[in-house]
Amino acid sequence: MLTITHHIPDGLLTASATQLHQILPGPTLCHLTGKNPHPLFISVLLHGDETTGLLAVQQLLTQYARYTLPRSLSIFIGNVEAARWQRRRLDHQPDYNRIWCGTGGDEFSMANDILREMAQRQVFAAIDIHNNSAANPDYAMVPRLDPPSIALARMFSNKLVFFLQPHAAQSSAFGELCPAVTIECGTPGQREGVENSVRFLDWILNLKDLPQDPGPMETLNLYRIAATIKVSPSHPFGFDPQAAQTVCFMVDPARDNFQMMPQGTLFAVGCDPKHPCLEVIDPEGYDIFDRFFSLEDSKLITASSFVPAMLTMNLQIIRQDCLGYILEQVRNLPIPGTGIVDQRKAIHP
Ligand SMILES: [Zn+2]
Repeated sequence: MLTITHHIPDGLLTASATQLHQILPGPTLCHLTGKNPHPLFISVLLHGDETTGLLAVQQLLTQYARYTLPRSLSIFIGNVEAARWQRRRLDHQPDYNRIWCGTGGDEFSMANDILREMAQRQVFAAIDIHNNSAANPDYAMVPRLDPPSIALARMFSNKLVFFLQPHAAQSSAFGELCPAVTIECGTPGQREGVENSVRFLDWILNLKDLPQDPGPMETLNLYRIAATIKVSPSHPFGFDPQAAQTVCFMVDPARDNFQMMPQGTLFAVGCDPKHPCLEVIDPEGYDIFDRFFSLEDSKLITASSFVPAMLTMNLQIIRQDCLGYILEQVRNLPIPGTGIVDQRKAIHP
């Protein structure tokens, strides 16, 4: 199912995400030769409705149209079929950012082939470009905490989120081969997110080596995910206090994401005092609702201060996935990151 090219396909630099299917038969890996043979790997459109990566790659390649690339580039354009319909994925497809380890069909084999090929090419670094469904500042997700990985991610943003799950994410798998990062560039297509991505990609493309020093901790906002906030499926919910639905969340992603939410903040109204409307699940799978929330009659109040992130108001995403995450700041390196990665290997050999 994978097409491999050694040139920029005709029309690629000007096609919109919804038009890509007219010029690409499906997922496409495009190897472009540069002065330094160890390629930078960039993946875009693993989620078909997240267009910033495509726009950034188009802009980057246009900038270099009349020049030799300073370093080879391997660009993977992922879910062309879902991009046509502006969907994250189509119903018959797996999530293209959950196929990078394990088995499960053609997409898994394709991802495995790409990893093998990039290992042979001695990939320099891997960057996976995504968007969120609601406003967030630009931030990077890092699967590893070794100094070059942190240094790489910091070139994009000083807000980093260390993650263990999903282990079948692109950057998690590429982290075995090279420093790898997922960059999250606000909502799809925003000019600022595209410009920041292009600046970042161009910087990495021109680097001889990745720094071995992670940079000063004082200016780094490094987080780990303390919990996932899920809405209990049986509760009707929404965001409009005037509406008659049962639970109304008082959150505003543009205001609240990556900001400290103080203890005592009103998080939701209209709750059933006997049944928490949220499940607050820690990385081990335990519900730790009481650590972060309390119910006062029908009001849901924060029981401790915390930093929420990736809060969304998209009802479908909330139902299928979650309302958002609770982050915990990591203040000192090294944190037992290596141990954590080893645990992941032990769990998912
Ligand atoms: Zn995504």
